[in-house]
Amino acid sequence: MQVKTQTDELQNYLTDASNIKGGHAEKLFIPETAEELAAVLREANDEKTPVTISGARTGTVGGAIPFGGFLISLERLNKIKKINEENLFAVVGCGVLLTDLQKELGARNLFYPPDPTEWSCQIGGTVATNASGAKSFKYGATRAFVQRLEIVLTSGEFLDLKRGETFAENGFIELQTRAGKIIRAKIPTYFQPKTRKNASGYFTSANTDAIDLFVGSEGTLGAITEIQLKILPKPEGFLSGIVFFKGEKDLLCFVNEAKSLSFETRRNQIQNPKSKIQNQIDATLLEYFDSNSLDFIREKFPKTPENMAGAIFFEQETDAENEDGLFELWNALLEKYNTDLESSWFTTTENDLHKMLEFRHALPVSVNERIVRYKQRKIGTDMAVPDENFVSFLKYYKQKLDESALDYVIFGHIGDCHLHANILPKTEAEAAKAKRLYGHFVAQTVMLGGTISAEHGIGKLKKNYLHVMFGERFLNEMAELKRAFDPKGILGRGNIFEEKFLTN
Ligand SMILES: Cc1cc2nc3c(=O)[nH]c(=O)nc-3n(C[C@H](O)[C@H](O)[C@H](O)COP(=O)(O)OP(=O)(O)OC[C@H]3O[C@@H](n4cnc5c(N)ncnc54)[C@H](O)[C@@H]3O)c2cc1C
Repeated sequence: MQVKTQTDELQNYLTDASNIKGGHAEKLFIPETAEELAAVLREANDEKTPVTISGARTGTVGGAIPFGGFLISLERLNKIKKINEENLFAVVGCGVLLTDLQKELGARNLFYPPDPTEWSCQIGGTVATNASGAKSFKYGATRAFVQRLEIVLTSGEFLDLKRGETFAENGFIELQTRAGKIIRAKIPTYFQPKTRKNASGYFTSANTDAIDLFVGSEGTLGAITEIQLKILPKPEGFLSGIVFFKGEKDLLCFVNEAKSLSFETRRNQIQNPKSKIQNQIDATLLEYFDSNSLDFIREKFPKTPENMAGAIFFEQETDAENEDGLFELWNALLEKYNTDLESSWFTTTENDLHKMLEFRHALPVSVNERIVRYKQRKIGTDMAVPDENFVSFLKYYKQKLDESALDYVIFGHIGDCHLHANILPKTEAEAAKAKRLYGHFVAQTVMLGGTISAEHGIGKLKKNYLHVMFGERFLNEMAELKRAFDPKGILGRGNIFEEKFLTN
């Protein structure tokens, strides 16, 4: 195991995609095995030294940034241990990069749907943040694919959790460590928001499965060292389109109908699991770009049409039998809602898909260039609301942003009622105004029964807003759950809730 203490050796490990400054650690450990990791945790626990788990540091909320104590990078636990093509599962070390797993699966005509855009993340990091992305519209977030976890607790003990084996009963859950010790934890009593995605706080449900407590726990309950994931056969083909709308009402009605049809197809599939559903709309993803996003994209991608209210990127999986029929179905839906078909693009080939990915990629590139130009930070939202409140929430977003006269773009996972608004201040005064506006969005989201983080998590950046969402009582319940697994409160300090909740 490597142990590093020199400032220059630690430097690259002290930041992530959140841009939070000031990270520091006494020592960086890079264990080669889960047992070495367990020994470091045991030592830290004995000395009450804070420990931060570091994945690939692509997280956007500072979860992997340490503020003192030990930092443990899991980059060496990076073996793909098994790919079972018959029973469709993979077993990986937590440090395996998503890109490496996808490459390996692709070569075998297999596929792992969770796609958090940034493929340099580690699988352990995606499990710890319950990462999701565009394809979550059809497939759900990472949680839906986690079948088994090996976890090391701060005591150095191992937990082996298999989905479907251990459930909460009467508000408590009992787990047995590998060495036979029983851990009894009280399940928090809050309800999950009725959103299609959520990454705010610990997961709970009527009969919580133990494994789900750890998925999305943001490095605060234990270190996830090995993961068994469900995988799928790679779809034969796909039909993708980037389609432009002159009218926003048409765009929203198109999305609404594409969603309803997709849900109906899935219901049919559940009712008739053995029949192959052909010729029914079943979108894999539905992504949105507002008119401001199109202006930014045009800077890099000049073919982007002008004077449009917005665009939708959609995709559906196809096979040789249904490809033509599905093209006709989508075309009819697009015509019904007055899509600007002349300026829209469609593809069924990987080659052309690159053009669409270039289009999507142009947005963050232009936005980031703009941020650098004005030496400011973008203020980005990650909120989602229940389906029935989505249209009013989008209206609220736009009204408030237009009134503020701040520059902004709105884009993202419209199928999941989860859009990112990026506010782009040009001055300090604008940055302060943007932060106030963010507070309004949090309040409106909570009022509409939504979540303040649908996919990026809370980390160190959004703790105050989690307080708004859940209030003191439920944060105390989360802290109580944490204490059951990490009694000294050393792991992932400052993530999810303030340290004061751990000392109550
Ligand atoms: C350009 C860009 C686009 C993105 N788009 C999306 C998106 O569309 N959807 C989305 O969901 N996310 C997105 N993300 C962020 C996403 O959170 C990360 O990509 C990923 O899920 C985190 O993995 P990581 O290995 O980088 O973890 P890190 O950033 O290193 O850590 C994240 C958290 O997990 C904990 N952790 C890491 N590994 C472990 C482990 N083995 N055991 C216990 N705890 C652990 C850390 O302590 C930390 O709290 C994006 C990020 C970028 C930079």
